[in-house]
Amino acid sequence: MNSSVDLFQQAEYSDAAKKAFARKPQLFINNEWVDPVSHDTIDVEDPSTRKVVSHIADANQEDVNRAVAAARQAFDDGRWSGMPPLERENIIRKLADLIEANADELAELEAIDVGKPVTFARHVDLPATINMFRYTAGWATRLAGEQIAPAGLPNGAFHAYTRREPVGVAALITPWNYPLIMIANKVAPAITAGCTVVLKPAEQTSLTALRFAELCVEAGFPPGVINVVTGNGHTAGDMLVKHPGVDKVGFTGSTEVGKIIHNNVTNSLKHVTLELGGKSPAIVFPDVNVEEVAPAAAGAIFFNSGQTCVAGSRLYVHSSIFDSVMEGLTQTAEFWAPCASLQPSGHNGALVSKEQHDRVLGYIEDGKKQGASVLMGGNCPSDNGYFVSPTVLVDVNHNMRVVQEEIFGPVVVAHRFDDIDEVVGYANNSRFGLAASVWSKDLKTMHDMAAKLKAGTIWGNCHTVIDPAMPFGGYKESGIGREQGRYGVESFTELKSVVIQL
Ligand code: NAD
Repeated sequence: MNSSVDLFQQAEYSDAAKKAFARKPQLFINNEWVDPVSHDTIDVEDPSTRKVVSHIADANQEDVNRAVAAARQAFDDGRWSGMPPLERENIIRKLADLIEANADELAELEAIDVGKPVTFARHVDLPATINMFRYTAGWATRLAGEQIAPAGLPNGAFHAYTRREPVGVAALITPWNYPLIMIANKVAPAITAGCTVVLKPAEQTSLTALRFAELCVEAGFPPGVINVVTGNGHTAGDMLVKHPGVDKVGFTGSTEVGKIIHNNVTNSLKHVTLELGGKSPAIVFPDVNVEEVAPAAAGAIFFNSGQTCVAGSRLYVHSSIFDSVMEGLTQTAEFWAPCASLQPSGHNGALVSKEQHDRVLGYIEDGKKQGASVLMGGNCPSDNGYFVSPTVLVDVNHNMRVVQEEIFGPVVVAHRFDDIDEVVGYANNSRFGLAASVWSKDLKTMHDMAAKLKAGTIWGNCHTVIDPAMPFGGYKESGIGREQGRYGVESFTELKSVVIQL
């Protein structure tokens, strides 16, 4: 990529994007666009330009009540859960087809709203979203209970079995880093299980959720099955979580908010899945090919400007190859240099908001004050948008905030290690446990590490390889429960035992 000031200039928005910006701030309830009771709105900013491009509604209690009532009615009268599973599957597949047919427009909106490169939005976010809906839809016809032989009852005198039933109305609250993927991860299993939903996307990035709502009508979902309410987290999100008409809360976001939600659902004993923050280690053993691993370790942290829950933000490299891996990392600086989100050649964009920009630069300064050295980056290369250069911090120790806390930006802390027990101790010395990657050609090392690392996902010789069939979730403060695969769909069900005396 040429380093030219033009790369920080945003390209012209398409007519479809301008149409989305011009949308009236409304809520999507019962398959209709309704004016909110609340007159408050939230600015929608393009992080590549720092300019406001649109406004969304900031729902209040009455708005939330209305959306939950619509979902409640649609669940209770069985219009969705009572439909033959194959019909439900077909509607979900139709939705996936419509997302695919509108992928260019959705990718542009996602890029503008989040600040991420449009090419990655189109070729990573959109396919992952579509795959999640297509894969998950297949479980509609496969979810089933089982016949069980009772252990303590006379043989043949009882017929006993289990049933999987949808849990009810699901409140789904999503973050801003991969808005459509997060919608798919939550909405797909919920509706596949037969639940109805109220989705509240992140207030920073709601544009694709609103376009998604329009596609739901086109796909043929009955009214009330999918409702979308925009608004702030501490108000609209909080009201949804506490609403008595909600049976399950599915949340992805920060550990801090996850704890608030956990307390709130504990009071009402709602079902809950929490997908929270991370500080994932990438561990490089000395037997690797450094020329391959250094760029891969860079991708593990710098992709999506480090705003990925599983980003490899702690890099542990064996002392014998530490310097050569660091050199390889610095050679990726140009590839991962940020630019305006609609630049087609860009590999990295702006951070999502001023808040996030200040937070990431603040962490870099804090690391420096505590004794870390900046091997690469550490700066804001243009004031046009919320840009931060890919940054490598060395000379770090485990007490530093930059090592212990989730920065959620393009910043990696790099450490040396000498033996396997030492690096297992370092890697597990974290309140998080979302993911980890191990880089080695030795199978024994790989399996030993897979068993010893305390994280929900372990990758071997790769990072951020997420598949819709594989369960995903965190240990420790990275969350509760698992999404994706059969487990993800089952998390939106109740398991009922039936025992009939014959
Ligand atoms: P956030 O916690 O600030 O917000 C997430 C969502 O929660 C938003 O929709 C927000 O409006 C809502 N919210 C905020 N306060 C609320 C409250 N009191 N009650 C109900 N809802 C509330 O997180 P964020 O900044 O949008 O996203 C970044 C975080 O998400 C990072 O910590 C990242 O690691 C995490 N994340 C985790 C995963 C995962 O699968 N584990 C995936 C993506 C992001």
